[in-house]
Amino acid sequence: MKALRFDVDAKCGEARAGVLTTRRGQIETPVFMPVGTAGTVKGIRFEELESADLDAKIILGNTYHLWLRPGVDVIRAAGGLHRFIGWDRALLTDSGGFQVWSLGALRKISEEGTEFRSHVDGSLRFLSPEVSMEVQAALGSDIVMVFDECAPGQTAHDETERSMNLTARWAKRSKDAFERLQTAGADTGHVQTKDLSGRQALFGIIQGAGHLDLRRISLEQTVNIGFDGYAIGGLSVGEEKSLMFEVIADVAPRMPKDAPRYLMGVGTPEDLVEAVARGIDMFDCVLPTRNGRTGQAFTSRGKLNIKNAQWANDSRPLDEACRCSVCQRHTRAYLRHLYMSGEMLASILLTHHNLAFFLDTMRGVRQSIRSGDFPKFRREFTERLDANGE
Ligand SMILES: [Zn+2]
Repeated sequence: MKALRFDVDAKCGEARAGVLTTRRGQIETPVFMPVGTAGTVKGIRFEELESADLDAKIILGNTYHLWLRPGVDVIRAAGGLHRFIGWDRALLTDSGGFQVWSLGALRKISEEGTEFRSHVDGSLRFLSPEVSMEVQAALGSDIVMVFDECAPGQTAHDETERSMNLTARWAKRSKDAFERLQTAGADTGHVQTKDLSGRQALFGIIQGAGHLDLRRISLEQTVNIGFDGYAIGGLSVGEEKSLMFEVIADVAPRMPKDAPRYLMGVGTPEDLVEAVARGIDMFDCVLPTRNGRTGQAFTSRGKLNIKNAQWANDSRPLDEACRCSVCQRHTRAYLRHLYMSGEMLASILLTHHNLAFFLDTMRGVRQSIRSGDFPKFRREFTERLDANGE
């Protein structure tokens, strides 16, 4: 029996709407997954994530952060990540590879894995496909990611090829270790379900930076190993947007049609809509939460910086088109006052609105694909942003 099921129920060009059934419930796609780095989606309570306002069906946890602190033993003793954090809905964990790449100073990559210094206490740590699978099994996430090496978009061809082949070997080792752990039943948070195996699901990651020939080889290598879903990694890490969309447009339609397609770490609301138009089903990004904490709101009319003096006496909500509880209740003037006063409520309210806007945008995307109006939705969405964005 499968670990998850994916049914595409509507198409509009390359855009797809569907339902991803995990052992912890159904997720309508395209879906945006808020990022819960260290076991918390920063600045927001789980009750709010579950509320009708946001209704996030799946969130992310970061293997790297949770492994270093509080550590696997603490989470295992608590009965897995769901119980530890108090979240019953679906969880996806990344492999830790990206964090080692983006945070880990003094690292050394070998065939075996990656050596790096912990940003928490400076200790020397070693992460490999096997270690990553063991940690993710202990976390008990519903979707596990293979351990990969990230070659960002602008990496040279020969360096990307070396990295991509290493990622393929690590993907195979990830799957082997994953299968051993699932069969042994060790700490995988096995959940009783009617139609699914109750096991964790495992996604492969396609690398290859900005080189389309390598992207296609990486896709083939990954599909040949065989996974429950497929992700595109190594994008939105400093390359030109045009290159990012060129890669997505080339790779996504070649990905297996009966499996979910996940674009990792992307992006702005307009990036999400544009990637959906090229065939992507799943997204995660820190932008709504991170930018919320620094005073930036995403709205249907573009970005709004709450620090600007022009909002000091503005009695309008952040976004007049938004139905979230923050926009129903509070004015820009008040939110600016909170931010300028250093009140923690500023971050909380901006984060809430930003997540509501991202999740509501995806709701609109799904509805428009189902009704066959996605091209119109996409055009009007872009026109509104262009007309008024900062
Ligand atoms: Zn709002």
